Amino acid sequence: MIRLSGGQAGTVVSALTGGEPPPSRQARLRRICDPVSGEEIDRGLVVWFPAPHSFTGEDMAELHLHGSGAVTARIMEILSQQPHMCLAEAGEFTRRAFENGKIDLTSAEGIADLVAAETEAQRVQALRQMEGALGRHYESWRSKLVTALAHMEAGIDFSDEDLPPRLMARNFDDILMVYNEITQHLDDKCRGERLREGICVTILGPPNVGKSSLLNALAQKDAAIVTSTSGTTRDVIEVHLDLGGYPVTLVDTAGLRASTDEVENEGVRRAVEKARKADIKLVVISPDVSPTHCEEALRFCDGEALLLLNKNDLLPDFPEFEFPLGRQSYETRGNISMSVKTGAGLPQLFECLENRFREWFSHLSSETPSLTRHRHRQALEECQACLARVLDRMKSEAIPEKTAFAGADGASLDHASTAPQGPVDGELAAEDLRLATRCLGRITGRVDVEDVLDVIFSDFCIGK
Ligand code: GDP
Repeated sequence: MIRLSGGQAGTVVSALTGGEPPPSRQARLRRICDPVSGEEIDRGLVVWFPAPHSFTGEDMAELHLHGSGAVTARIMEILSQQPHMCLAEAGEFTRRAFENGKIDLTSAEGIADLVAAETEAQRVQALRQMEGALGRHYESWRSKLVTALAHMEAGIDFSDEDLPPRLMARNFDDILMVYNEITQHLDDKCRGERLREGICVTILGPPNVGKSSLLNALAQKDAAIVTSTSGTTRDVIEVHLDLGGYPVTLVDTAGLRASTDEVENEGVRRAVEKARKADIKLVVISPDVSPTHCEEALRFCDGEALLLLNKNDLLPDFPEFEFPLGRQSYETRGNISMSVKTGAGLPQLFECLENRFREWFSHLSSETPSLTRHRHRQALEECQACLARVLDRMKSEAIPEKTAFAGADGASLDHASTAPQGPVDGELAAEDLRLATRCLGRITGRVDVEDVLDVIFSDFCIGK
C-alpha cells in the first residue's frame, strides 16, 4: 500500500487514475496508469481521505497495489516525477499528524511503540498511550496549573478585596494536589520504561551448575554453548524472549569463581556488573558443585533473586547435600529445586517468573497510565522541582516561621492546613508555576519541542 499526503494528493490520484478521486473514505477499483504514456501499470483499490479528516490532517490517498518489486518500482518512479511529490522521511506521516494538531507527542510515541511492540504487554501499554491516555493525564495536570497561574496572577494584579475569599488557599491546595500526584506517578520503579525496553533476567552461579543449559531451556533454543568443561561461557550472552506476554532479556554470564585466566576474570567482572543491573537474578547452584564454590554466587541472593537448585536428578548421588545450603536462609523471592535435564521444576520457574511480571506490571490494568520514557521522567522531575519551589514560596510568605518542607526529593507534602490566606510572594512563585506548566507542555508537545522532534520521529519506520 502506498500512502500519499499533502495538498497535491488529489491531483496526483487524478493523474494516475484518469478521473476524480473516489468518494470520501470509500475504496474504488481503479486502473493505475502512467499519466504521460497512458500505459496501465496495475489495477488496485484507491481510498481517498480529504482533509481534515485524515490521519495527517491533510488530503490523503491510499493506493492498494500488487506489491511486486516491478509494480512498486514503476509507481514510485512515476510518483517521484509528479510536481511537489517526494518520498516521506521516517515517521513523517505521524509528524505531520502532530504538527496539524491531530495527536499529541505522547500519542506519536505510542504509535512508534505499537509498531515496535513484540509482546502482548508492550502492545497493551503502547495502544493505551497511542489512544491518548498518557497525554490526557499530563494535560489535566497542566490545565489545573494554568488555572492556578491565572489566579496567582490575579492576586498580583488586584488587591485582596477584589478577589474571592480564600482564593489563594484553594490555589495552594490545587498545586499541592498536582505536586503529590506527580510525586506518586514518578515513584513507579520505572515499570513503564522497563516494559518498553524489556525486563532483564540474569543467570548467575559458579561454573558448571547448568546456567547455559537453563538459558537454552528458557529460550527453547541452543543460544549458549553447553559443555561439561568449566568456564566455557566467558562473555555475557543475551537472548530476547516473550515470557508469558512480557518482554525479557535473558542474560547468561560467566561462572563466578576466582581464576588466573585474564579472559575469564574479565567475564566474571562483566557478570557481576550485569547482576547489579538485573531486575531479577536467577542464582543457580547444583549438588555436584561444592558449597564453597557457590558462596560467591549466593552473595547475590536478595529480594529480587530466585535461588535455583539445578541437577536435582543427581541428589541421590549426594546424600549430604542440603538445600538451601547449610540450612542458611537467603533473602530470596523463592527457592526452586529443578533439573534442566529431566525438566523437573521448569514449569514452577516459568510460573514464578510470570507471577512476578504480572505483579510488577499490574499498573497495566490500573486507571493511571504509566510513564514510558526517560524524556517524560526528566520533564516531570523538573516540573516537580518547580512546584516544590512554588509551594515553598507560598508557604513561607503565609507563615512567618518557616517549618521544614519536603521538596523535590520526592517526599509528599501535606500543608493544606497551613495554606496562605492572601496573595503571596507573587512574581517569583508565578514564574516557577509558569515553568512547571511548560515542563508538562514539553511532554505532550505543546511548547518548546522543536529540538526533540527529530529525535522522536527518527525512531519511526517509513510510511508511519
Ligand atoms: P554452566 O557452566 O553453569 O553454564 O553449565 P552448563 O550449562 O554448561 O552445564 C554443565 C554440565 O552440566 C553440562 O554437561 C550439562 O549437560 C550438565 N547439566 C546441566 N543441567 C543438568 C541437569 O539438570 N542435570 C544433570 N545431570 N546435568 C546437567
